[in-house]
Amino acid sequence: MNKNYTFSAGPSMIPAAVLNEAAKGLCNYNNSGFSVMEISHRSPDFEKILSDAESDLRVLLGIPDNYKILFLQGGATTQFSAVPLNLLSGSKKADYVVTGLFSKKAYTEAQKYGDIRLVASSADKNFTYIPKLSRDDFRPDADYVHICFNNTIYGTKWGYIPDTGDIPLVADMSSCILSEPIDVSKFGLIYAGAQKNMGPSGVTLVIVRDDLIGHMREDAPTIFDYKLMADNNSMYNTPPCWSIYMAGLVYKWVISMGGVSAMSELNHKKAKLMYDYLDSQDYYINNVQPDARSIMNVTFVTGDPEIDKAFVKEASEAGFKSLKGHRSVGGMRASIYNAMPYEAVEGLVEFMDAFSKKHPKKEGDR
Ligand SMILES: *Cc1c(COP(=O)(O)O)cnc(C)c1O
Repeated sequence: MNKNYTFSAGPSMIPAAVLNEAAKGLCNYNNSGFSVMEISHRSPDFEKILSDAESDLRVLLGIPDNYKILFLQGGATTQFSAVPLNLLSGSKKADYVVTGLFSKKAYTEAQKYGDIRLVASSADKNFTYIPKLSRDDFRPDADYVHICFNNTIYGTKWGYIPDTGDIPLVADMSSCILSEPIDVSKFGLIYAGAQKNMGPSGVTLVIVRDDLIGHMREDAPTIFDYKLMADNNSMYNTPPCWSIYMAGLVYKWVISMGGVSAMSELNHKKAKLMYDYLDSQDYYINNVQPDARSIMNVTFVTGDPEIDKAFVKEASEAGFKSLKGHRSVGGMRASIYNAMPYEAVEGLVEFMDAFSKKHPKKEGDR
């Protein structure tokens, strides 16, 4: 193999076609004689980059007209505050489901701003499953319900969209946006940092139903106001130009690949290769409940931290980079986002099999 593949959870792989196009744009944008990074965000060139990104994304995800698309700064983490600041506008109650570290952070942050209830948590089994919830589990007067749709660290995802009735459902989709088709109309708000599946870090996407904006609490920082950002086309201040440009190139690449449903087919094929292999042997263990398995982040352990360490090192030497699991869970994690080619996952599975034969476990290790 002559190429390294990085299985990093984020920042993560960017399609080669996008990187090549960006390299040109960085030096000489559209033969203009200047870099795409040297133009004003108010120039027609940049306005086209922004409006293309928005319209391409609208088509890719089938985003209805009554939803605003915002390109913001501050990462998904900033949305942990921006969501309650904007959406706790009625009863000031919100219901949160904690299925991992990021949803826990979101839940903790929201507590500063209202009556925040923990509806359910999968912490009791180290976040290896997704709770089964129905409408009765949520407070009928809650301003919104918050979930994290794909749990990057634990390798789980919601296999269903919880029925919250009329209560707006808010979802952190940082690590699964554009991986599968989603019915946006089932959500009040979706947010996602770009650096998993939409290019480099620096821009955070917010898709929000238009009746939910315009109610931010008055003492909140102006810059967090979705309404202000929507009214100014995400350009109340200087937007993250480079990240928006890159995200736009990623959207065009997804379109060239056949759109989100084609992407989804490929992602399911890659994930199946990994999980079928994991299920076929007992050297590596995936602890996630089968109906909660993520197709973006695949976690596994050998059960022996020393062997895990050797695995990460030897895999890296063989060109399979960044397979170390998150520090809070250990073991290994293969993040196989949209940009990860099928051949790379095939290569990884072959490597895993060869490694398991080369490093037999001691008796009693399993
Ligand atoms: C990476 C990640 C975050 C944190 O994103 P930042 O852009 O670093 O703030 C939040 N939620 C999920 C699901 C993530 O994967």
